[in-house]
Amino acid sequence: MPLPKSVVEELRRVVGRESVIDSPNDLRIFERDGSIEGAMPDAVVLASSTEQVSGVIKVAARHHIPVVPRGAGTGLSGGAVTIRGGIALQVTRMRRILEIDRIAMTALVEPGVVNQELSLVAAQHGLFYAPDPSSQKACTIGGNAAENSGGPHCLYYGVTTNHVLGMEVVLADGSVHWVSGDVPDRIGLDLCGVLVGSEGTLCAITKIKVRLLRIPPSIATLLAAFPSIESASQAVSAVIGHGIVPAALEMMDNVTVGAVEAHYHAGYPTDAGAVLLVEVDGIAESTRELTVAIGKILVDNHGYGCSQRSARSASTTSCRWRTSFMRATATCTPTSCSTSAIATCCTRSRRQARRCFARSSSWAARCRANTESVWKRAPSCPGSTAKTTSMRCIASRTSSTRTASSIPARSSPTLRESRSTSRAAPGSPSRRNGGDETRGREAGHS
Ligand SMILES: Cc1cc2nc3c(=O)[nH]c(=O)nc-3n(C[C@H](O)[C@H](O)[C@H](O)COP(=O)(O)OP(=O)(O)OC[C@H]3O[C@@H](n4cnc5c(N)ncnc54)[C@H](O)[C@@H]3O)c2cc1C
Repeated sequence: MPLPKSVVEELRRVVGRESVIDSPNDLRIFERDGSIEGAMPDAVVLASSTEQVSGVIKVAARHHIPVVPRGAGTGLSGGAVTIRGGIALQVTRMRRILEIDRIAMTALVEPGVVNQELSLVAAQHGLFYAPDPSSQKACTIGGNAAENSGGPHCLYYGVTTNHVLGMEVVLADGSVHWVSGDVPDRIGLDLCGVLVGSEGTLCAITKIKVRLLRIPPSIATLLAAFPSIESASQAVSAVIGHGIVPAALEMMDNVTVGAVEAHYHAGYPTDAGAVLLVEVDGIAESTRELTVAIGKILVDNHGYGCSQRSARSASTTSCRWRTSFMRATATCTPTSCSTSAIATCCTRSRRQARRCFARSSSWAARCRANTESVWKRAPSCPGSTAKTTSMRCIASRTSSTRTASSIPARSSPTLRESRSTSRAAPGSPSRRNGGDETRGREAGHS
């Protein structure tokens, strides 16, 4: 239902005339995210500052209009879909990296900063941002925080919540607060722990202070083939059982290997029932030792064709296959459901892993039917194929408003609250890690 003209005018007074979209054709671009859900917002507001976000939320609160914050729209849970209509509050214009503190190893960023851009900028200081969802070339740090996203490296480094130190947020009444501290290991309420992963239901995030890590001096990636998903899962358990926590440990089933290989000729064994990719990082000596130790465990557990792959950088290594997989499957199916199965199966039992892959295949088949009809109905957008309509249009809209990263002095948060030291589960990576360090990866050793 369109918003009353008076409300649209109020919104325009807050963010400027050009920054409120209310024509149905333009709104359609924002009706979806990466999931299969869809619902048109009544208006889209492109906010450029905390003050604007606060102003928009105050207008919405006065008129009882729902507000859904939105980043790059890559979410797979439908979180950015305005399922009850209302305002889609697009924050991709807020994309400045405000501060990189190379001594404290932290960054203060606006929510619209693209995940990979942060690591690229941090790399100039020998640092990187560990949470690396496969969508990292597009998704935003705000979206990552709201979804508590992880990636291939979450096995060792943890997910987004382990790397967020503090946030500036706007609550439903438009008030602006700084939650949690801005250094690791503070005491008090863990409000970030509540808000990270809340999918935009509790607040709009307007600034995020994140922990950065040192780029490890050496990285090695091992690849091994297995006769089945069960044997590969058993090998995963064996590696962890030996007290080794690799930087990344990912499994591809036979279908995935086939799809990636057909498109990218990466040299993956297509006859294998499953393939494991194991990444270790740290000082060169420990990387070498771990590679040998893991290789032996994989072979002892029915692994074959075990080979070491060269790796260039911490942020691109093991996720490369994931990105290739997304691209490869995009050409054969409009769904990407099986990735979530792949991402999670390493931590599951063999039976669960098998069920997980099987479920994702049948889910994918069902989704394919649904999404094909959706894509057929989707309006065309100049320069886009049907499948990529919404993403491309959003990208082209937002890229024109992009500002260069700058690093001005940080404004003081309006409210500071401490947070507990124990965000991560006991013994979880980032706790052991303390946000630092070269790593010898044997838990309890090195
Ligand atoms: C190809 C592909 C690969 C993916 N791989 C992974 C992966 O490996 N791991 C993973 O975890 N996810 C993955 N995802 C899912 C998705 O990319 C992540 O959830 C990502 O964090 C979403 O970021 P976004 O900027 O696109 O957020 P959006 O999709 O725009 O929004 C996601 C949620 O965050 C909320 N939100 C966004 N910005 C704010 C803000 N400023 N304040 C408050 N709430 C906000 C929205 O309301 C919504 O609920 C993948 C998606 C795709 C399409």
